[in-house]
Amino acid sequence: MVKTQVGIVAICALLGVLFTIGTPAARAQTQTKPSANAERSNQLPPALEKKFMDATADPCVNFAQYACGNFSKLYPIPADKSGYGPLYIVDDHTEDALHALLEKVEADSPTRTANEQKTGDYYATCMNKDAIEAAGLKPLKAELDRIAALKSKSELTALLARDQLINVNAFFGYGEQQDFKDARKQIAFVDQGGLGLPERDYYLRTGAADEKIRQQYVQHVTKMLKLLGEPDAEAASDAGKIMALETALAKMSMDVTSRRDPMSIYHPMTVTELAAIAPAVAWTSLFTQTGTPPITDLNVANPEFVKGMNALIESTDLETIKAYLRWQLINGVPALALPAAEDEEHFNFYGRLLSGQPQQKPRWKRCVQATDGALGEALGEVYVKAYFPAESKQKTVQMVHDIEGAMDRNIDTLSWMSAATKVKAKAKLHMVADKIGYPDHWRDYSALKVVRGDELGNAMRAVEFENNRELAKIGKPVDRGEWDMSPPTINAYYNPSMNDINFPAGILQSPFFDPNATDAEIYGHIGGIVGHELTHGFDDQGRQFDGNGNLSDWWTAEDAKKFEAMTDCEVKEYGGFTAVDDVKVNGKLTLGENTADNGGLRLAYMALVTDAARKGFDLNARDASGFTPAQQFFLAHAQNWCGDIRPEQLRLGAQTDEHSPQKFRIVGVVQNMPEFGQAFGCKTGQPMMPVNACRVW
Ligand SMILES: [Zn+2]
Repeated sequence: MVKTQVGIVAICALLGVLFTIGTPAARAQTQTKPSANAERSNQLPPALEKKFMDATADPCVNFAQYACGNFSKLYPIPADKSGYGPLYIVDDHTEDALHALLEKVEADSPTRTANEQKTGDYYATCMNKDAIEAAGLKPLKAELDRIAALKSKSELTALLARDQLINVNAFFGYGEQQDFKDARKQIAFVDQGGLGLPERDYYLRTGAADEKIRQQYVQHVTKMLKLLGEPDAEAASDAGKIMALETALAKMSMDVTSRRDPMSIYHPMTVTELAAIAPAVAWTSLFTQTGTPPITDLNVANPEFVKGMNALIESTDLETIKAYLRWQLINGVPALALPAAEDEEHFNFYGRLLSGQPQQKPRWKRCVQATDGALGEALGEVYVKAYFPAESKQKTVQMVHDIEGAMDRNIDTLSWMSAATKVKAKAKLHMVADKIGYPDHWRDYSALKVVRGDELGNAMRAVEFENNRELAKIGKPVDRGEWDMSPPTINAYYNPSMNDINFPAGILQSPFFDPNATDAEIYGHIGGIVGHELTHGFDDQGRQFDGNGNLSDWWTAEDAKKFEAMTDCEVKEYGGFTAVDDVKVNGKLTLGENTADNGGLRLAYMALVTDAARKGFDLNARDASGFTPAQQFFLAHAQNWCGDIRPEQLRLGAQTDEHSPQKFRIVGVVQNMPEFGQAFGCKTGQPMMPVNACRVW
C-alpha cells in the first residue's frame, strides 16, 4: 500500500515500468551471473555520442534510426535486463557507486554512525544467502500461523490490517493521500487491489497470448503454494480457486486508462457510509489496528469495487480465502528475502515469462536496490556528499528557471487559449515548487530496527516503517519538502497535489547533464526533461489541478474543449504506433506522458533560442562536431531514448505503462516540431515532417 504504484494519482515520472516491473511484489528481482556487457557498460556516455548514430539513415525518414541506429549493436540488451538504453548505463554506473558506499559500511564495527549501521547491516544481511537458506520459511511462520488460525470471516479484519502494513494488498489497497480537493489535508484512502497479475485486463482479455499467460500464472501460484507445504493436488485446486477469486476482483476493478481521470477515483465518504457498503470488513477496527489516527471520513476511490469485494468475501468459503491469503502473503513479501527455490520461481514468472528477461541480476545489484528502497535517504545522504557537486545543483536551478521562463512566454503565444485561462495558467506556473537533487531535511530512520542476519524481518520491518510513516500523516499538515524518490534515482517526477517538479541527483549526471557538453546538447537533454516534468502540470491530468494542488476547474469551458481537441491529435498520432506484433500503443493511456514529451522539448527549444541570443551564437552554424547547435539539440534529446526493449516487456508496457516505447519518444516528438525539419533540411510531407503535426503546448 501507500506506494505510488497502488496510489491514487501516480506521480508523473519520466520513466515507467522499465525500472519497476508489474506488481509491487514483482519489483526488485533478479540474480546470477553478470552479463558480458555489465563490465563495459558502466562508463557514462557524453551528451552526444556519435558512436550511437547510424549515419547511413536519413534523419527526415527515421530520426530514431539516425540518432540511435548503432546503439543496440554496441549494447545488446544484457541477459539480466528486459530492455536497455543510455538510462540503464547511468543506472548501472550509479549502482556501482552505491555498491562501493555500502561495501565500506557492511562490516560490523563500533565506529559506524547509526545510519551506516542500518544501511551496512541491511545490505550485508541481504547478501547473506546462506543465512536466508538456513532460515527457510521460518521467518514467515508467524504470518502463516495467523492465517491458519482464522476460524471465521469475522476474524478477517485483523489479518487484513496486518497485511496492509507489510505491503500485502489482499482484496484491497489502503493508504494515505493528499485530499484532491484540499491539498492541505492528508486523508486515508481505500482502493481496489488484490490481484497478482499486473493489471485487470490480464484476467479478462481473450486471445491465445493472454490465455497462455493465465495458464502460466495458475501454474506459478500452484508451485508457490507447494513451496509453502501444500500437497500437489490441494495446491492445484487452491490455485484454480484463487484464479477465480482474483478474476472476480478484476471484473470489479477499473482499468488503468480510466484511472487517469482523478474524478473517477475520488469518492469522499464517511467511515459509517463505508461500513454500510462493505460490512464484511470492520473498518474502524482496521484503521485502529494499522495505527491510523482517528478518522471520520476518507476517499473510497472505487466504491463499486468495494461493494463487489464485500459480496465476494461473503460468498467465498473460508478455506478458499485462507488459500488466497497464503498466496498473497508469499507474493507480497520481497522474493529476494526468501529461499532460492521461492525466489527463482517468482523470477521465473514475473521476470522471464512476463518481462522476457532471461536471467536474474547479480545479487549485489538487487541488494543495492533493496537497501535504496528501504533506507533511501540514509544511503542518499552519503551518495549526495560523495557524488553530487554543489555546482550541479546551481546549474540545474538556472536551467529550471530558464525553462519556466520559456513556459511563461509560450503561454502568451497560444492562439487557442483565452486571456482569462492564460492568467490562471500563469498563476499555476508561478506556484510550481522546484526541488533539485535531494531534500532539505533528511528522513529520520531511528525507529527502524535493522537486525544483522534477519533478512525477511528487515524487509518486512522496512515496509512497515514506511507504511506507519505514511499513515501517521493523516490529519496532519502537509510537509511540502518531502520527496517520493531517493536522491540516487535515475528519474524525475511531477506531483499534481504538491504542484512540484523533482529532479533527484541521479538524473543530474551525464549524458543528461554533461558538464562538457555544448549549451544546445544540455538543453536537448536535461532541458527537455525539466520541460517534460513542468508540462505534466498542464497535461490531461495535471491541468485539472490548480496552483495549490487542488482538483478544481480553472479553465473556461471553451478552452477546456479546445484543449481536448488538441490532445486528441496526440491520442491518434501515438495510437497509430505499433508497440509489438499486433499490439498498438494506447494513445489515451500514454497521453499525459506524450503531452509532456512534446511540450517539454518545445520549452527546452524556446529556452535554447533565448540562450543563443543572450550568448550570441548561431543555432544554424556548424561547429567542430560537424553539427549545428539546432541539430545537436535534437540529437541529444533522441539519445535519451536509444536502445531496445524485449517483446514481452513491450507487451507488458503497452498494458500498464503510461510511457510510450523509447523509439516513439523520439519520432513522436520530432514529427510535431517544424524546428526539427528546418534543422535537418526535411521537406514537408516526409515522415519526420508531416503535414498534420500536433501541438498542445
Ligand atoms: Zn512523465
